[in-house]
Amino acid sequence: MADGRSNIALIVAAGSGSRAGGDVPKQFRRIGGEALLAHSVDAFAGHPKIDGIVLVIGEGQEDAVRAALGARPCPPLVTGGVTRRDSVRAGLEYLAAQGAPSAVLIHDAARPFVSSHVIDGLLAALQSHEGAFPALPVADTLVRFEAVMGDTVPRDHLYRVQTPQAFHFEAVLAAHRSWPEARDATDDAQMVRDTGHSVTIIPGDIMLEKITHPEDFRRAEALLASQPMISRTGMGFDVHRLVAGEELWLCGVLVPHSHGLSGHSDADVAIHALVDAILGALAEGDIGSHFPPSDPQWRGARSDRFLAFAVERVRARGGLIDQVDLTIICEAPKIGPHRDAMRARLAAIMELPLDQVSVKATTTERLGLAGRKEGIAAQAVATLRLPPANVA
Ligand code: MG
Repeated sequence: MADGRSNIALIVAAGSGSRAGGDVPKQFRRIGGEALLAHSVDAFAGHPKIDGIVLVIGEGQEDAVRAALGARPCPPLVTGGVTRRDSVRAGLEYLAAQGAPSAVLIHDAARPFVSSHVIDGLLAALQSHEGAFPALPVADTLVRFEAVMGDTVPRDHLYRVQTPQAFHFEAVLAAHRSWPEARDATDDAQMVRDTGHSVTIIPGDIMLEKITHPEDFRRAEALLASQPMISRTGMGFDVHRLVAGEELWLCGVLVPHSHGLSGHSDADVAIHALVDAILGALAEGDIGSHFPPSDPQWRGARSDRFLAFAVERVRARGGLIDQVDLTIICEAPKIGPHRDAMRARLAAIMELPLDQVSVKATTTERLGLAGRKEGIAAQAVATLRLPPANVA
């Protein structure tokens, strides 16, 4: 972030209120099986032009945030203030102290569904403006959007302002630092615009509606369910050489055998094929492009971390894995006695139900490299679904 050319998402999730019903703050309540906060984190983490995320949270909410994020890496946490403005200021000052990024996208966790198109639009708008935000016209009202934001328009009259709001970092930091304590500000865009910068509007998104009341959760669940997901399939294939004196790791399980597989990592040929299948479905390269064998940090690495990484990439794109199917091709050892343990281990790494994880095995009738016991091969297929907004 210190190179001054990075884009950071600042997600404000400091609320402690429960207007949305229930006894937990709404950013920790779930829609589509994931906490509100987790949806926003996934959206930004999955965008190639977002270089980092900082979360502004309420005092003492660290454990709740980690629980809401599950297996995801936890971004830096900054404790917010009494008001939203205090919370944003705390996040901006944290970023300034870390080495200012070039741009910051300030987002409310109460708007869980940020599409990659909105992020793209905001970053493009920052090429010619100091600030940009998405807005939706109020139904049945004609609204003229100017290339540059003009006078502030009362929100309840003409159009609805959404987040994320994107700014040149120095402009929004200066606006917050100079803004009089007693003066009201409806949002960061107003502050930046009123301190003399140009702020523009990009088209908003119905999926960005704010979640406030209990009925909003029901509406968002229905909206999410109505989004047609796009099915994607990927395949993977791998071979490793069998040698005496190595451990034999297959599907994350240590299998007793006279020989093991050699390779740079633990050489778990089955997991490698599976990782390539998942990355293939995402069209995000292959295992070697993410974990190059030339990089000494992967020497002897357990392959379960490669698989966890691939699954995290699916989540970051807002997707879900429907099913994986794996075939191990070898003459020995016999896979049958280990099949249940292998499925259970893969399901645990991927956080999938057991019935979505298939492990099969075959020999090659003593033909070829597997038949001569020179190596073990594996092939895999992964089927997953991605939201249309994130199929790029
Ligand atoms: Mg391999």
